[in-house]
Amino acid sequence: MNDDSITLSAEDISIAFDAVIALDGVTLQVETGEIAGLIGPNGSGKTTLFNCVCGYYMPSRGRVRLHTREITRLVPHRTARLGIGRTFQSPNLFADLTVLENVCLAAESMAIGGSVLRGLRPRRGVKSRELALGLLEEVGIAAYSDAHPLEIPVGIAKLADLARALALKPRLLLLDEPAAGLNDAERLRLAALLNKLNSRDGLTMLVVDHNMGFVMSLCRHLTVLASGKVISTGDPQAVRMDPAVVQAYLGGDAHAGA
Ligand code: ADP
Ligand code: MG
Repeated sequence: MNDDSITLSAEDISIAFDAVIALDGVTLQVETGEIAGLIGPNGSGKTTLFNCVCGYYMPSRGRVRLHTREITRLVPHRTARLGIGRTFQSPNLFADLTVLENVCLAAESMAIGGSVLRGLRPRRGVKSRELALGLLEEVGIAAYSDAHPLEIPVGIAKLADLARALALKPRLLLLDEPAAGLNDAERLRLAALLNKLNSRDGLTMLVVDHNMGFVMSLCRHLTVLASGKVISTGDPQAVRMDPAVVQAYLGGDAHAGA
């Protein structure tokens, strides 16, 4: 396998918060063009790994590479510029902006070369608005364009967060529990949408979710974390039968068989 075939490579990542070892030598690769899955009980380190990849946290050991480029010490707006998009377990949309404005802001911040957090004033571009509207249509929530985040159900907020991540035109998309809080119909629609983004646009993804049906409908390859370590990798069927995985879930999270 040559380097072009690997989009994300996290090698031997460790990080601790005081006495809590959140990640302990975690290695994970995501192949270009695949939808990979990352599962594990609550508190096993899934979100922390996303934060290490995107630059929100600096691991104390290990390195992260996007294709051949090392990105371990880059801050979030740099990793975003390089093509890593992410959604959040709890969408943190700006409450005083509409759904459309939230997505526009992401598109505009990309257009001006980085994060709005650096104090640059985004331009109100027509192009950004068109792009944002198109993305809200694509994820199926254009009807909520003018709503404010506090007025919308969690499932809609998650889709708005997804549209915002897509506005940054990622090459790699990290999705943190995108199906949590969705009903069955919404979950099926989301799976179809992610499959479409993957097959039509070639978008590479790493998906964290607790719903095994959702994960298995999307991913050919899973990595399982427990207590900050990789305990199993492989195709979903094999992982599901792995005694180490069964044991990890029996010890904690009841959703493993869902
Ligand atoms: P998961 O996403 O798998 O549920 P997390 O990555 O959120 O797990 O958390 C892994 C562990 O790291 C937990 O024990 C959590 O409390 C801890 N942790 C994560 N982020 C922080 C932080 N910023 N400060 C302190 N502890 C944290
Ligand atoms: Mg999490």
